[in-house]
Amino acid sequence: MDHDLMEAGWVSRGHGSIATFELIRPTRVVDALAAHRVAEDSSAAYMAGGIDQINRMQDGAAPDRVIDLSRVQGLTGISEKFGALNIGAGVTHHRIETDPMIASLAPDLAAAWATFGNIRVRMAGTIGGNIMARHPNYDGPVLLAACGARYVFEKPDGMTSLIDADSWPDVPPGADAASGALLTRIVIPTGGDRRLVFDRSLKPVISVAVAVDGNGGGRAAMGCAFAEPVCVAFDVGANAGEIAAEIAGALPVPIRDVFAGSDYRRRMARVLLERQITLLAEMGP
Ligand SMILES: Cc1cc2nc3c(=O)[nH]c(=O)nc-3n(C[C@H](O)[C@H](O)[C@H](O)COP(=O)(O)OP(=O)(O)OC[C@H]3O[C@@H](n4cnc5c(N)ncnc54)[C@H](O)[C@@H]3O)c2cc1C
Repeated sequence: MDHDLMEAGWVSRGHGSIATFELIRPTRVVDALAAHRVAEDSSAAYMAGGIDQINRMQDGAAPDRVIDLSRVQGLTGISEKFGALNIGAGVTHHRIETDPMIASLAPDLAAAWATFGNIRVRMAGTIGGNIMARHPNYDGPVLLAACGARYVFEKPDGMTSLIDADSWPDVPPGADAASGALLTRIVIPTGGDRRLVFDRSLKPVISVAVAVDGNGGGRAAMGCAFAEPVCVAFDVGANAGEIAAEIAGALPVPIRDVFAGSDYRRRMARVLLERQITLLAEMGP
């Protein structure tokens, strides 16, 4: 009985179920990357706040080596460069919600981020862990795709790569973990008349974030309704109902699960999109 409940995900296994592992606590990015390069017959995993990583290990994931990122210098900075906000991958949700620079450069993002989970999750969980967990219901990747953010990775071969948040779903989940690429920061365009709105009232059926850049460009990103967030660019200006209908009609087939069917999710995408595009127009710059 207990076993069935655990298999169904209703009861968590305790810490006692975690297999033995070696804990590495690097202080530099280069050492974290080196620690991830283990022999072929063993495995390694990064851990930031540890919320998802520990759960996965309780559920049977058994990396030989866990690399704790909490002491790695350079992962917790927040700065502004060339008109863009740079947020270190190790910055917690709580800091995003309360940091004065983010409040001044991206207030809508800070407000949306403050709606995540509960205070314990926001104090421990990081933006990097939220992205790298690749969970279809997590809000970070949806908001960041709508904002036109880019993810910066350092790789074990010494290369740096930049990936647009809206094309992040094209990177197969697991490929990032296997390669040992370390997400170091997230770059978010700011300035102008950028606005962002987020509606998570229908989670876990669908979540929708819509951003406009003040130059006639809009981006809508949707979570929960697909295996990975879907982001669509659109031109601001036409009637909100028409834009919403066009975007919703062209979406890939949404998932069907115990919470909702595909048709309902598509209908709700149209309803929430229309509502948010109208709201953005009313808010103005
Ligand atoms: C009760 C509860 C409610 C929640 N509610 C919400 C919610 O409303 N919205 C929402 O979006 N989320 C929600 N979450 C999820 C939460 O935001 C994430 O669990 C958290 O952000 C994960 O961050 P972490 O630092 O703990 O990641 P970890 O568990 O440390 O890591 C997660 C994954 O990312 C990898 N990783 C971490 N950092 C890096 C890096 N820098 N480079 C490469 N790989 C890395 C790890 O190897 C692991 O695979 C909720 C969680 C709980 C438990």
